[in-house]
Amino acid sequence: MTRRSRDDPRKPFSPREKGWDEGLASEGSPRLRGSWIAVLLFAALILGCTHDTRRDSPTAVPVLKPIRVGPHSWYVEGAPGVASQVNRGYNSNAGFVVTDAGVVVIDTLGTPALGAALIAAIRTVTAQPIVRVILTHFHADHFYGLAAFKALDVEVYAQVAGIRYIDSPEARRRHAQRARDLAPWVQARDRPPGADYWIDDYAGFTLGGLRFELTHLGPAHSPEDLIVQVIDDQVLYSGDILFAGRIPFVGEADSREWLATTARLLAFQPRVMVAGHGPASRDPGRDLVLTRDYIADLRARMARAVDTLTDFDAAYAAEDWSRWSRLPAFEDAHRANAYNVYLQVEQEALRGEADAAIESSDPPD
Ligand SMILES: [Zn+2]
Repeated sequence: MTRRSRDDPRKPFSPREKGWDEGLASEGSPRLRGSWIAVLLFAALILGCTHDTRRDSPTAVPVLKPIRVGPHSWYVEGAPGVASQVNRGYNSNAGFVVTDAGVVVIDTLGTPALGAALIAAIRTVTAQPIVRVILTHFHADHFYGLAAFKALDVEVYAQVAGIRYIDSPEARRRHAQRARDLAPWVQARDRPPGADYWIDDYAGFTLGGLRFELTHLGPAHSPEDLIVQVIDDQVLYSGDILFAGRIPFVGEADSREWLATTARLLAFQPRVMVAGHGPASRDPGRDLVLTRDYIADLRARMARAVDTLTDFDAAYAAEDWSRWSRLPAFEDAHRANAYNVYLQVEQEALRGEADAAIESSDPPD
C-alpha cells in the first residue's frame, strides 16, 4: 500500500468539499435516504425516551461521556467485550474533532440510538454543526449509528474497499444477527447506510484550520481499514487495527497482513492513539501491543499445529491459553479467532508461503 504524494494533482471530489486536496476514489450514490428517515424517527424516539427512562427502561441507551484527548479532539468509550443486551450495543469507541468550521466525527457507534446519543454528547461540548463523518471500517459496532447522522445532512467518507461489503451476504448476515441480538435498538427493516464518498489510499483536508490525514492501512482487521490523524493535535484514531484491553475480533481478517500493519501503525508515533475499543493511549508503543502480541501468539501456536498435522480441536485443547483468558471478549471471540487463524495458516502452508510477518513485527522503538 503506497501513500499517495500530497502533491498528487487529483481533482477535489466535490465542489462542495472546500479544503479537501486529494484522495477521492468516487462519489457514492445517495441511495436509502428515504429509509434513513424511518430509522431516524426510531432513533429520535429512543433518545427522546432516555431522558425520562434511562435509569430503568430496557430501551434506554447509555449516557455517553466525551473524553478529551487533544485541544480539539475527543472520543467516547464503549464497554469492554462484545455488543450485548447488557451494554445495549455500546461496546465500541467513536471520536469527534471540533474545528471552527464544524465538527468531524470518526465512527458512529453500533445502533441508530447510540448514534443519536453521540450527537447529543457532541452537543454538550460544542454548538458547531456536524459536517463530516469518517468511517474507519464497516463493522456493525462502528457504523450502524450512522443513520442518526444522516438527518443532519452530513457528508460521509469511507475507504473504497468498503463498497464490496455493503451489499454482501456477510453484511446481511451481520445485520440479521444484530437485529436479533440488539432489538429494539437494531431493526431488521432498517438497512444500514453506506458512505457518500469513497477514499482510495490516502486523503487529506484542512477544515477550520485543522489538518486531517486519512490513510488506508487495510487489509488488516478489515479490507477497508482507514486511520484518521488530526495533525495539529497529534491524535490518531486507529479504528480496529488495534484493540485496547480486550481480545480482538479476527473474523475473516488476514492475520498475517494485520500483524504487519500493527507495526506500521505504531510507527506513526502519535501523542495519543484512540483505538476502536478500550481506553485511549498516551503511549501506544507500550499500551497497544496487545493486539499485535495476541495475533502473533495465535499464529505461532496454530502454525505449530499445522506443522505437526494436528487437527484444530486437538490443538486448541492442548494449548494453555491462560495468557489471554482473563481479557474481555475471550469467551466470545477467542476460539473462533484461533480457528480462523488455523485455517489461514493451513492455507499458507499449502501454498508454501514462509511467514515473514512474525519476524518483522518487532516494536518500532
Ligand atoms: Zn471491527
